[in-house]
Amino acid sequence: METTKVSRLKKANTTLGDDLNRHRQQRELHALIEVAKTLTAPIELDEMMQAIIDKIIGVVEPAQIGAVMIWDQPRGLFQPLAAFGYDLQTLKKISLHPGESVTGKTFQRNCAQLLKTPEEVAAAMQDMLPENREIMKQSLKTDALPISTLAVPITMEENKYGVLVLETLDGHTRFTEADIPFVQALGDLIALAIERHRLREKLDAAKQLREEAKMRAELMAALSHELRLPLTAIRGYTSALLLPDVNWSQEKQLDFLQSIENECEHMESMITEMLDSSIISVDQLNPNLESVQLQEIAREVAEEIQRRSDIHRLVVDFDAHFPKVNADVYWIKQVFRNLLDNAVKYSPEGGLILIRGELRAHDVLISISDQGIGIAPEDLIPLFEKYYRAQLPPGYRIPGTGLGLPIARSIVEAHHGRIWIESKVNEGTIVNFTLPIPEETR
Ligand code: ADP
Repeated sequence: METTKVSRLKKANTTLGDDLNRHRQQRELHALIEVAKTLTAPIELDEMMQAIIDKIIGVVEPAQIGAVMIWDQPRGLFQPLAAFGYDLQTLKKISLHPGESVTGKTFQRNCAQLLKTPEEVAAAMQDMLPENREIMKQSLKTDALPISTLAVPITMEENKYGVLVLETLDGHTRFTEADIPFVQALGDLIALAIERHRLREKLDAAKQLREEAKMRAELMAALSHELRLPLTAIRGYTSALLLPDVNWSQEKQLDFLQSIENECEHMESMITEMLDSSIISVDQLNPNLESVQLQEIAREVAEEIQRRSDIHRLVVDFDAHFPKVNADVYWIKQVFRNLLDNAVKYSPEGGLILIRGELRAHDVLISISDQGIGIAPEDLIPLFEKYYRAQLPPGYRIPGTGLGLPIARSIVEAHHGRIWIESKVNEGTIVNFTLPIPEETR
């Protein structure tokens, strides 16, 4: 060949090589940007890994299948978090051990493993446990082993998270040394995403603990204050009764003793609420169901509450054919007690408190209405959260723990009922709850 021709051909080849290189670099850069964008998306870690591996397979030419294998420290094995070309649900049954197959070796050696030929791949996979090999086959839906593999460790400083494995199944392109830096960069980005996710989890847990501790401290302060009020009153009445120089009339003495009893009941109900709330919060509420007449329970509790107030009139009004329902007497009494207690407390000017029982097609509806201060619309939903208390109108001071309604809701829901509130500020409140009617009485 003439020298000029040869040199022209060489030049053309070099230009083509340069173009290909430039093209490859551009694609890699684009892929890195895309992957980096995914890192900041507000999605779960497994979704993020899936999005990343989908992008990688499209960019790294020899890669036809691949998986992000995560090191599960407590169980001492590797599991896939995301995969391309494999059936992920099947692949998730795999449990690779340290040192086992390509994943285990890459992790142990903590550096990229490039297997350029089917023989090299087969040698690296030789120690794979038969059950894992079977799962791999099933998830790939083929017996064929990869013909070339590139695996890089997913590490961030001393934290080793797992391995990114990319594989070629067929065709002419194979992984080469030139692929290592880019794939390792992707592995590093994945490590960054995992690190970020784990840090966020730790941060969230720490924040939650701090918030819980803060809430407990605030609650303790509020509860101690609430408990001290009746205690102070009791102390006042007993000191008065014990005054050596005063001869109280029998009527006055009875009056003081009655007040002491009322305050004791008040303290008792607050302590019960606190204890119940701790039971309910750990889902230990197992209602002991029996067939009960709700109107009797309503009447009993209404009488108990009526004794504490002479400015309220409690009226129980149930439909004539109101059926028996299955309920736990102790807990349902607690619901009535909490709701009636609120109806009295939050209608400080007194008024009518009506306890209605209505028979409906599939359930019974109990409504407790009062003529009290009412509740602003924005408070209606959060009221069922533990410790939530609505802002009181200026000048009012009504004791409470913010536990009565959440407890009532847990009890009603444990009975498969619903509870909700309707209210108008300055007009009054209706608290409704339903309980299912037993099939046999429908
Ligand atoms: P507590 O009464 O001990 O604060 P609850 O959980 O029973 O706790 O009630 C939460 C809040 O709901 C109360 O602080 C009050 O603001 C509001 N609330 C409950 N029942 C009524 C009612 N019948 N009328 C007006 N507000 C009510």
